[in-house]
Amino acid sequence: MKCDIITLFPEMVAPALHESMLKRAQERRLLEIGIHQLRDYAADKHHTTDDVPYGGGPGMVLKPDPIFAAVEKIRQERGEIRIIMPSPQGAQFNQTMASAFSKEERSLIFICGHYEGIDARVREGMSVEEVSIGDYILTGGELAALVMIDASARLIPGVLGEPASLEEESFSSSLLEYPQYTRPVEFRGLRVPDILLSGNHKTIRAWRKQQALLNTLRKRPDLLADASLTEDEREWVDQQHCDEIKSHS
Ligand code: SAM
Repeated sequence: MKCDIITLFPEMVAPALHESMLKRAQERRLLEIGIHQLRDYAADKHHTTDDVPYGGGPGMVLKPDPIFAAVEKIRQERGEIRIIMPSPQGAQFNQTMASAFSKEERSLIFICGHYEGIDARVREGMSVEEVSIGDYILTGGELAALVMIDASARLIPGVLGEPASLEEESFSSSLLEYPQYTRPVEFRGLRVPDILLSGNHKTIRAWRKQQALLNTLRKRPDLLADASLTEDEREWVDQQHCDEIKSHS
């Protein structure tokens, strides 16, 4: 996976990219990341990257010309590109998108907005995908770009030590994950469920599946519509749902 981040604040993204999994992924050459200071692409002597909005209003807007210049330079170096613009107005980022990004052959360019946002002609004049990480407003696109890169990079084969962990974690099959426990067996009177100490892998697998179904039913029932469940599993979930309604009435 190849990514380029265009930003006014490179020091906001660089530290996060040089730690933990993202660092290892780059060392193993599974992930390549370029950080580009937007100011370097401003042609005037003051390296101006923002200006007041036409029509009035508060704040500053990022100018289109440095952004076009940065994208064109990256395109010359990388070849085929896919441009992502973090934006609260975009399509909601999710695990399916992360998976698609992790398999993307083209270079992903993240254009990070700041202040009041980016001159609309960037969206009008280039093929750009606006992507949101949630219904709230951040100060800039940097944290959103990092969220997307992190969630996508861990899905690249070879990045995580144990690929099996990806198969069971939340959202991988439209279910939330089952609860996890580690040592000690008892902590402040709270015990690890006996079944996990039984050593019986078949029973443990079945228990975990039920717990994943219960977790999803209780916390994110909307996900169940897309989950691929057997008829027995769906009946079991429906039964649990009825039992929970009865126990609350
Ligand atoms: N005035 C803009 C609006 O109301 O849509 C918000 C601008 S915001 C303060 C500045 C930048 O932060 C945006 O250009 C975008 O890059 C980023 N940003 C803010 N919230 C975001 C979100 N929820 N998801 C992704 N990027 C976001």
